[in-house]
Order: sequence, then C-alpha cells, then structure tokens
Amino acid sequence: MTIRVGIIGTGLIGEDHGRKLVNVINGSAVSAVTDVNIARAQEVATLLGGARVFDNGLDLIASDDVDAVLVTSIGPTHAAYALACIAAGKPVMVEKPLAPTVEECERILAAEVAAGKRLVIVGYMRRYDAGYKQVKGALEAGTIGDALVLHNVHRNATVGEAYTSFMTMTDSMIHEVDTTRWLLGEEITAVQVVPPKRTPLAFPHLQDPQFAIFTTETGILSTVEFFANCQYGYDVRCELVGSLGTSSMTNPGLSATIASGQLTERVPADWRERFGAAYTAELQAWITGLQHGQIVGPSAWEGYAATKVVEVGVEAVKTGARMEIAYVEKPALYR
Ligand code: NAP
Repeated sequence: MTIRVGIIGTGLIGEDHGRKLVNVINGSAVSAVTDVNIARAQEVATLLGGARVFDNGLDLIASDDVDAVLVTSIGPTHAAYALACIAAGKPVMVEKPLAPTVEECERILAAEVAAGKRLVIVGYMRRYDAGYKQVKGALEAGTIGDALVLHNVHRNATVGEAYTSFMTMTDSMIHEVDTTRWLLGEEITAVQVVPPKRTPLAFPHLQDPQFAIFTTETGILSTVEFFANCQYGYDVRCELVGSLGTSSMTNPGLSATIASGQLTERVPADWRERFGAAYTAELQAWITGLQHGQIVGPSAWEGYAATKVVEVGVEAVKTGARMEIAYVEKPALYR
C-alpha cells in the first residue's frame, strides 16, 4: 500500500522531505502540496513529479487523495494544522517544534486524548542518527554503568542577523532537550543558562556562544554548548559519562584523507548534510508504521515536553537563574 502524503509548507525542509518521500522512501508518494507562497508550492509540486497544489492547508487535509500529512510550515502555524489533522482522523508528522507555545501543545494533547488514539509525531530526527543511537545503546546495555553527566556540543558555521539569543533555546537547543529526554529516559526538571565570553564574530545583539545546564529527574546534568557562529562548519555530538565509562560520538565525515603526515576529515556544512540519513530513517519509520496501521515516531507528549523546557529556558536566558520545570500529568495515551 502506498501512503499518499500531503505537504503543508514547501520551504527548505518541506522540499527536502518531499524529495525523499518521492525518490528514497519505500511505500510513499506525495499527492498534494500547499504553501502561503503558491508559486513556491507550484515549483515544488513540479519538482516532485506533479503533486496537486492546494490553496490552503485545511483543504489539503480534507482531501480524499491525502492519507497522511507532513507539516513543514513555520512554527506558529503548526498547532492549527495538527488540530485539523486530528479532527479529520489523519496521521500527521509535524516538524519541530510541535508548536512554539505550551498552551498550543496542551490543546494538541487534549485533542488527541479526546480522539482516543495517537495520530501525531514530531520531527526530532536525532533519535534516528547512528551516533546518538550507539550512545543510547551503550547506556541501555549497561556498558558504561549509571548515567551521570551528558555533554552536548551544537555548533553552527554562521547565522543571519534575524537570529536572537532566545532562538538559541527555541530553535537550536530544543534538539538537545529532546536528545537529553530520549537518551536518558527522564524528564528535565530544571534549566539554567550561563552566558560565556562572546565571540567577536557575531552580531552585537546575539549572546554567542550560549551555555545551558539541564537537570533531569534523578539529578543527571546535561550540558549544552551552543555556538551559532563557530565559523568552521556544523558540529553536533555528545559524550555520556557513566559510573563505569563513557560513550561518545564523532561528527561523522563521509571520508578521511591521510597525506603528508596529516589526517584530514570533512566537517559537514550544515544540518542537511549532517542529518540527511537520520531524516531518511525518520520518514521511512513513519511511512512503514502507517502501512502497518501504527504511528511510529516521537509523540505529541514528546513535543509538548520539549516546548515546555524551552519556554522555561527562555526565562532562564533572561534571568540567568536556575528555573524549575513542572509538567501537566502525562495522559495514559502516552504512557
Ligand atoms: P522555510 O524555508 O521558511 O519554509 C517554511 C515555509 O512555510 C515557507 O515557504 C513559508 O512561506 C511557508 N508558510 C508560512 N506560513 C504558512 C502557512 N500558514 N501555511 C502554509 N505554509 C506557510 O522554513 P524551514 O527551514 O523549511 O522550516 C520549516 C519548519 O521545519 C520549522 O518549524 C523548522 O523549525 C523546522 N525545521 C526542522 C529541522 C530539523 O532539524 N528537524 C530543520 C529545519 C527546519 P513564506 O516563506 O512565504 O512565509
């Protein structure tokens, strides 16, 4: 059975995911697209071999030609589309964040609970990255003992002037929030943000780098160094320190060259290159699950929890204080 996907938002990642759904993923087709920029939607529809172009997302969701929906429009539009998919009983993958506010995420949780079944997944693709999976595997196998400290590095070559010190939390460290929760299997209960000395190579309004400390339920510390203008490439990795050893990952290059006494390895240019394989694995898991009547991927609860942490995290950026995080009770649907 081919799953016919409708894509809402044909920007950078909407086009990327669309190409994978058409050319790489087994069992999927792209039957419909839409974007507020209709010319852009038309262009992507042609690139994807002639998907139908809808004037708006709600008509796309209602279409009989759409079995499942991929929401890759800008964050503030996510909640309305996710809620419409739940009302229509259609599976939906929402790119991160599930929604930018906790209030919207709670409405999505309530709608799914009222519907009595899971339909929503959120695009936290690092869960499908080979390196992160190996670190989690070392913890689960008991090889490194009890988890004590997780160190995360998240570096980006450069960012534009529109990027702010709060986006370090809402757009970037939100990935480490999800990685921390998933890798350690615990909720984050407190966050503190400590600003290091600033690089001279960032726009003056931006605190760069930014350093966060997340504390989990059992007291594991997860540190994040986020550096938006590191200049040299895209560098994302972690090291998990346990009571018996550590497990760490490299920023995987595709090849290395040894010559003239030097070992050189390519650093990925950006997130598309670094996590290309993870996006493919994430989409394949979603589509294969749908073919078997299952919803496979991070749940709306995972999306809610990540948004909750970064909402408090933004306050932590403002105050510098250690801020506690309290969640709503986890509905049985997500246990
Ligand atoms: P983008 O290139 O700006 O694309 C977003 C598209 O959505 C634009 O074409 C935009 O049109 C369109 N849009 C705006 N409002 C809309 C609406 N109401 N209905 C339909 N389309 C609408 O952004 P992007 O980089 O692809 O990011 C899209 C989403 O993916 C964001 O939530 C982002 O956080 C997420 N993302 C996740 C990852 C990851 O690693 N998982 C990586 C990148 C992006 P206009 O440009 O005309 O406004």
